[in-house]
Amino acid sequence: MALHLKSAPTKSFADTAQHDVAEAVSAVIADIRAEGDTAVRRYAEKFDRWSRDSYRLDDEEIERIIGTLDPQVIADIEFVQAQVRRFAQAQRDTLIDIEVETLPGVMLGQKHVPVQAAGAYIPGGKYPLTASAHMTIITAKVAGVPRVVACTPPIRGEIPAATVAAMKMAGADEIYILGGIQAVAAMAVGTETIAPVNMIAGPGNPYVAEAKRQLFGEVGIDLFAGPTEILIVADETADPFFTAVDLLSQAEHGPESPAVLVTTSRELADRVMELIDRILPEMPTKDYAEAAWRDWGQVIVADDLDEAYRIADSFASEHVQIFTAEPREALTKMHDYGALFLGENTCVSYGDKVIGTNHVLPTLGAARYTGGLWVGKYLRTVTYQEIVDTASSAQLGDVLGRAARVELFEGHARSGDARVWRHVGKDFDW
Ligand code: NAD
Repeated sequence: MALHLKSAPTKSFADTAQHDVAEAVSAVIADIRAEGDTAVRRYAEKFDRWSRDSYRLDDEEIERIIGTLDPQVIADIEFVQAQVRRFAQAQRDTLIDIEVETLPGVMLGQKHVPVQAAGAYIPGGKYPLTASAHMTIITAKVAGVPRVVACTPPIRGEIPAATVAAMKMAGADEIYILGGIQAVAAMAVGTETIAPVNMIAGPGNPYVAEAKRQLFGEVGIDLFAGPTEILIVADETADPFFTAVDLLSQAEHGPESPAVLVTTSRELADRVMELIDRILPEMPTKDYAEAAWRDWGQVIVADDLDEAYRIADSFASEHVQIFTAEPREALTKMHDYGALFLGENTCVSYGDKVIGTNHVLPTLGAARYTGGLWVGKYLRTVTYQEIVDTASSAQLGDVLGRAARVELFEGHARSGDARVWRHVGKDFDW
């Protein structure tokens, strides 16, 4: 039986779809629907103290902003974007169009067609999440989306220069300094300034995640990607220092971010808790990390690794790190997670910032039914059909006449009858 050394409520979907968040979001969406830019401006001022004639950046301003950056920042963005693009392209290459002949002359096909306009939300309320620009925009462009609209909020009243550079370098077609519900709603329903998009991707805080959830249907969304989560599965071989540091790396995202250790070693658990108590007070980002660890941190000691994997699966955590003697075992033993990080040479922060896999991942248990953002999310898998052989058309028309009448669809049946008559001259009695 697992021993809970540090317990906390397990976060569930209900935590984000809280009544007050949901109500605030629906009120803002309704106003933006009714008033367009006027309401967008009002909410940008209210939530972000952001007021400008135009929240869209033109090319000249973008170039000026990029010019203020250290060349090393630009070089690093280029490096990371190359990694993200390489992996996204490899994913795109797995999606092949098919066409098969199922009966003589009956051609059935499947194609992957990009959405024609996508909105990329790049978070930035607490930190300028430059890397989210690579994840959302490059992936859309590799999928072939012709129009990518990108929004990011001002951070403490300033335009986040590195994020703007990353948006431009990733290939965004339109860049807006706009955050939160007002950005998501403006992209979804459209305003005088922003033409509506067909789908919205990107992570964000509970307001952003809830806005996407409420607008789903009217627009597509990538997935439910709210406040970040980390879970580490560790055995006695794990390094306690790496374990403590990595748990805190995600807790610093915000006060709602759970960090969970599931280990088979009581000794490791005790050591990690000691280290966290020592490291946390010295962290520059301790305001968020301390609250996250206090309210949502958990340490669980499992009897064996099989139990540890079962417990880890029950969280369906966004990120799972495996610090065990045989990390690759998790690839078959675990089923419910957004992304796995195998062994101590990598960790969630690599995935967040540099390694090249997509960091937009499911939270609050959404990993039970979806993976993270990838090129496939921007593509629609559509089918087509053609019958070039009249005998096959008549054969299927004959079956159609009977099958449709079983369902009492006389109109459908007659479409089949008409072709049987045309192709083989068989009379019908209507
Ligand atoms: P954000 O851009 O998501 O949200 C900032 C916006 O929230 C502001 O622009 C403001 O308009 C709005 N806002 C703030 N308080 C509000 C209120 N009371 N009412 C209405 N609107 C309000 O940036 P953030 O807050 O820093 O959050 C980023 C989140 O993204 C973090 O929780 C982080 O963990 C998460 N994240 C998740 C993933 C993932 O894939 N799941 C990846 C990266 C980041």
